[in-house]
Amino acid sequence: MYFSKAFIPTLKEAPSDMDNVSAKLMVRSGMIRKLASGFFELLPTGLKTLENVIEIIREEMNEIDGQEVRLPLLLPKDLWLETGRWNVYGKELFRLKDRKDTEFCLAPTHEEGITNMVRNDVKSYRQLPLMLYQFGMKFRDEMRPRFGVMRAREFMMKDAYSFHVDETDMEKYYKRVYEAYEKICKRCGFKYRVVEASSGAIGGSFSHEFMVLAETGEEEIAWCNCGYGANSEKAECVRPEKTPSSEQMLNIEEVLTPNIGSVEDVAKFLSSTKEKFVKTMIYIADGHPLAVLVRGDHDVNESKLQTLLGCNELELATPAVIEEVTGAKVGFAGPVNFKKQIKIVADYAVENIVNAVVGANKDDKHIKNVNINRDFKADVIADLRTVGKGDICSRCKKEKLQFSRGIEMGHIFKLGTKYSKSMNATYLDDQGKDNFIVMGCYGIGVTRILAATIEQSYDENGIIWPVSLAPYKVSIVPVDFKNEEIKKVAEEIYKQLKKDKIEVLLDDRDERVGIKFKDADLMGIPFRITIGEKHLKDGNTEFKARKDDKSKAEIIKVEQIVEYVKSKIQESLKHE
Ligand code: ATP
Ligand code: MG
Repeated sequence: MYFSKAFIPTLKEAPSDMDNVSAKLMVRSGMIRKLASGFFELLPTGLKTLENVIEIIREEMNEIDGQEVRLPLLLPKDLWLETGRWNVYGKELFRLKDRKDTEFCLAPTHEEGITNMVRNDVKSYRQLPLMLYQFGMKFRDEMRPRFGVMRAREFMMKDAYSFHVDETDMEKYYKRVYEAYEKICKRCGFKYRVVEASSGAIGGSFSHEFMVLAETGEEEIAWCNCGYGANSEKAECVRPEKTPSSEQMLNIEEVLTPNIGSVEDVAKFLSSTKEKFVKTMIYIADGHPLAVLVRGDHDVNESKLQTLLGCNELELATPAVIEEVTGAKVGFAGPVNFKKQIKIVADYAVENIVNAVVGANKDDKHIKNVNINRDFKADVIADLRTVGKGDICSRCKKEKLQFSRGIEMGHIFKLGTKYSKSMNATYLDDQGKDNFIVMGCYGIGVTRILAATIEQSYDENGIIWPVSLAPYKVSIVPVDFKNEEIKKVAEEIYKQLKKDKIEVLLDDRDERVGIKFKDADLMGIPFRITIGEKHLKDGNTEFKARKDDKSKAEIIKVEQIVEYVKSKIQESLKHE
């Protein structure tokens, strides 16, 4: 492509509503434009880069026997009623009506669509296993669209679904997908980690997230050198050993704490520490109140609590309910003598507090020297807090957990029979018996990959694409395109690279060379060939890799430059 003919509207400054580095650079380099909050247009270099990502993913999906399909983006409400998700998906689902008032949604994911397709045509175990995948736009009315295409309301996903006769076969296939995802991460040049994650609204028993490591990532990952990794929300805490304390248990003592309710303030008031506190939170789980106890310096991890209780709805109790249950205003709840008998669940860390401070269930009063199993009993003791610095890895139980931030590029789930049961997708086994199909599902945020790559690879001059994704692999910069000799050499190199199917951008614009360099750097083109009088008079060009600084520029003979660039591309692809 000649730059003068290309639609690459680069900008000096990013618009103020682009709120992270990748969004700014994608707009500045002319890859995307924002249409409305969470909706983006892909311009030619944006689409080219996206297609490079798609091709990598497609190759790896085909390699594990996937077959590509395309499902409608507009899905009938009826399908979503079958699985019950029409009612639980909430506001993230874009809903609309046709002229006959029939309701539809814009697909946020396609479990319903694909299960419907398969149940109609798969009848026998002979047709299994089967893996179907697609590339397509997904729509989610995200609460906070942000970071450009990273968290958009319309985005491209690769979604894949596999169908099996039993769990064993699905487990085997899940491993293959896991490996394919690792290959995709490597080919995109990612530094990444795979973590165990909770399955959220999609459901299913188990899942892994593939995280691109970046300081700016929305997710926090807890990991250990032993190989353990989990979303820090989900990472398990180790149950501390019950070590006999040297501290004597003292007698319970009620103290006046007038209008002092928060752990911090009471600790100060009593010259104690937050670690000596048992914080008592009143929750409502599926309509029933319960008390949740954590150490004063910890917080309740609601997703762990919900998993433990197995409830559908969980929320903090209102002040009125708290008063009814404890007999005191908010801020003075404690596990000793509730007004109403309620279930008590306690976090592991509560077990080891000797002579704790707790609320007295009386206005403006706390109790000192409270001890578990002497003064109160917990119905359940479990892991109910989020891991933090200093926590030991729950897998090896030796090393301290480490923390990194990451961007979720992909998520794989073992779905089991969740969808086949609710949608009645069955097959006949070799005994002629009906069974539910066992499923897995596997997503990748294809547009998000563009942003994630940039978050991991940029400098003050712009994007630094890995060769595999770059929209153009090479830019040819003639210092002065009006100079006949320079023009001739530049066009000759351009033709040869094109002949070898290498994406190349020839900057034929009537601009200062500094501007041409700036744009090539901003766009992140991996290799640059500069042709100017200074070196051309000795039959030379100047070659520079985007990731290297100026001092590493090399002088290469005109007749060798094409082969040289090709070898550099090959070398980079091998290492990425
Ligand atoms: P997140 O926790 O980031 O909201 P999710 O768990 O909702 O992600 P999945 O339903 O697993 O995401 O979707 C599969 C993939 O689609 C994700 O791994 C992510 O890469 C991508 N993705 C999800 N939501 C968005 C979005 N709003 N914009 C861009 N990509 C997205
Ligand atoms: Mg989400």
